[in-house]
Amino acid sequence: MRLLIVEDNAELSRLLATGLLAAGYAADIVGNVAEARDALRSVTYAAMILDLGLPDGDGLTVLSELRRKMDPLPVLVLTARGGLQDRVSGLRSGADDYLAKPFALEELVARLEAILRRPGQLLGSSLNLANLVYDTESRQIFIDGAPHVFSSRETSVLEILLRRQGRVVPKKNVEDHIFGLSGEVASNAVEVYVSRLRKLLAEHNARIMIHTIRGVGYMMAEAK
Ligand code: CA
Repeated sequence: MRLLIVEDNAELSRLLATGLLAAGYAADIVGNVAEARDALRSVTYAAMILDLGLPDGDGLTVLSELRRKMDPLPVLVLTARGGLQDRVSGLRSGADDYLAKPFALEELVARLEAILRRPGQLLGSSLNLANLVYDTESRQIFIDGAPHVFSSRETSVLEILLRRQGRVVPKKNVEDHIFGLSGEVASNAVEVYVSRLRKLLAEHNARIMIHTIRGVGYMMAEAK
């Protein structure tokens, strides 16, 4: 199995590579964000060990880019920044596990083996359909990899239809999801937001259709 180590401390990465080789893993070493991108483009790795503080940027950018492309590569984040906040943002960006420096090599190998046993199970939560990915944490929408932020109500419509893609969602459910259970809602409000969402999706070339099921509700599906 071939691993990628992204770490700018040359001594640490050499130690890691040696230790991993003893455990049966071959590892390539790169020292910055640009090299990591190149390596990931040219080689299919079994997992990546990713330092966060890199000379040309934050390791989390590499991770976010991967997850945006729905790449399930197992990633173990390694960092000196061991605070709770970093841990949370690391996991939200789609890391499979997190290890704060300093650590014992045995622990790294054990954690790596654990994430290799459950590939593809991302901790970040995203929904996807055709060329669209929706990140439920940040409420960001990616179409062909490009990020977009829609207004809050259009995003709510997108989310409920995307969660039940291929199934009919009753109009009342869409309405409750957008407006909550309180307050007066204009009778055509759902139609208005669905129509705005359709327009936004079309403008950004999302290959997605929102079908109106007359008298019932809406269904989201990939455009044929
Ligand atoms: Ca570093």
